[in-house]
Amino acid sequence: MGRAFVYVILGGGVAAGYAALEFARRGGYSRGELCIISEEAVAPYERPALSKGYLLPEGAARLPGFHTCVGSGDELLTTKWYKEQGIELVLGTRVISADVRRKTLLTGTGETISYKTLIIATGARALKLQEFGIKGSDASNICYLRNIDDADKLVNVMKSCPGGNAVVIGGGYIGMECAAALVTNKIRVTMVFPEKHCMGRLFTVKIAEYYENYYTSKGVTFVKGTVLTSFEKDTSGKVTAVILKDGRHLPADMVVVGIGIRANTSLFEGQLVMSMENGGIKVNGQLQTSDSSVYAVGDVAAFPIKLFDGDIRRLEHVDSARRTARHAVASILEPSKTRDIDYLPFFYSRVFTLSWQFYGDNVGEVVHFGDFTGSNPRFGAYWVNKGRIAGAYLEGGSRDEYEAISVAVRRKAKVTNMAELERQGLSFAIQE
Ligand code: FAD
Ligand code: NDP
Repeated sequence: MGRAFVYVILGGGVAAGYAALEFARRGGYSRGELCIISEEAVAPYERPALSKGYLLPEGAARLPGFHTCVGSGDELLTTKWYKEQGIELVLGTRVISADVRRKTLLTGTGETISYKTLIIATGARALKLQEFGIKGSDASNICYLRNIDDADKLVNVMKSCPGGNAVVIGGGYIGMECAAALVTNKIRVTMVFPEKHCMGRLFTVKIAEYYENYYTSKGVTFVKGTVLTSFEKDTSGKVTAVILKDGRHLPADMVVVGIGIRANTSLFEGQLVMSMENGGIKVNGQLQTSDSSVYAVGDVAAFPIKLFDGDIRRLEHVDSARRTARHAVASILEPSKTRDIDYLPFFYSRVFTLSWQFYGDNVGEVVHFGDFTGSNPRFGAYWVNKGRIAGAYLEGGSRDEYEAISVAVRRKAKVTNMAELERQGLSFAIQE
């Protein structure tokens, strides 16, 4: 039993949705030649909504409202749109093995799907506490957040304990955004993470301090520099307390875990060249893997960043998923007209009424600027490497100001005097 397509997109997340839109815009396929295979039961959606709008106590975002590609102000691609475009959606279907030499994929239902060109958009999976040897971490009130089923569980668990206590494990993106959502839902939050401060991979001590103080003012308690070792449970198996390495017991009606992800590369290990240091599938500037018929995009792809002198990076952010997906389709349909991707890394987050953006790389010496006080702050930082701006962060900026810092990073603006850069602050980027 089997079906044959010219183009197969494996995975039905953010990158898949943007790849489909690019195929439709370029019109490079005939009806029935292109399919998306996804383990998820719904058409591609904007995953960032799951930790923001989806968790709001009132007026929460729900599908079909946030299918791709509304996140970038583009069309809303509903299942009807895919049908009209002649793109087959093979949903609720997990691919269990891939044969790159034969150009086939085997699904969990026993179907073999063949392709001429494959785009791997399998994204990543949330790391589980079990992987760190924590027993009993499959309790019904322990929540992860990667897909819409996880988000539904989180909403239900949250609603089951109004005014209760949540312990959030992990001080990264999921931890910070979920903690804010829980507080907004009137749940008391304690955040536990091993680092000295939140968002350790990006924030400086000074930036982290602002957000930690802000969260504290909203009632969040921080327990830093330690990890959990086990859970206390009631007779129904629900967690009632989290036990930390330092011996403390934190009462818990629910637990949210955000301790990082692993790229979903396993189907292709041993068949395609991997980027060991980045934990992803290695691709070139056309997003092409070591097999010329296979492309990889989004969270699973490790690709060269021209701006960083061709350094290979695997990014775990939505803008990169959207752009690599579109670029791969351009490369496939118009290879001679498509140059190597020239991507400027861009991360952002929104919590409570706060909102920040970051561009580039957080390497080199840091210079902070702006007002780090109050609930409507406007502050930021530049990372200066070898006398040039390598990265820039801004909280509370306007559209023009974000644009200005992105241009400064893109142009690698020259810095001759660090004290002067600090004095100028945001004006430095605006004047550039
Ligand atoms: P995904 O969107 O994860 O899609 C992967 C797809 O592949 C899924 O549909 C999955 O089911 C499918 N799949 C995997 N393996 C198989 C298989 N074997 N068979 C069939 N299907 C398979 N980034 C930001 O920049 N800003 C944000 O504010 C932000 N918020 C986020 C909030 C949450 C809750 C999460 C989880 C992520 C957030 N991100 C954010 C990160 C961003 O969503 C990801 O970078 C982006 O989704 C990556 O897109 P992708 O298509 O590569 O992977
Ligand atoms: P992150 O990598 O952002 O953060 C993981 C956090 O968990 C870190 O603080 C890490 O500390 C900590 N941690 C690791 N192991 C343990 C442990 N055993 N016990 C306790 N804490 C631990 O991952 P998230 O899970 O927060 O996010 C998952 C993905 O979702 C990421 O790809 C992220 O980019 C994406 N996302 C992005 C958003 C955005 O861009 N706005 C919003 C939401 C999700 P350490 O660094 O010391 O390992």
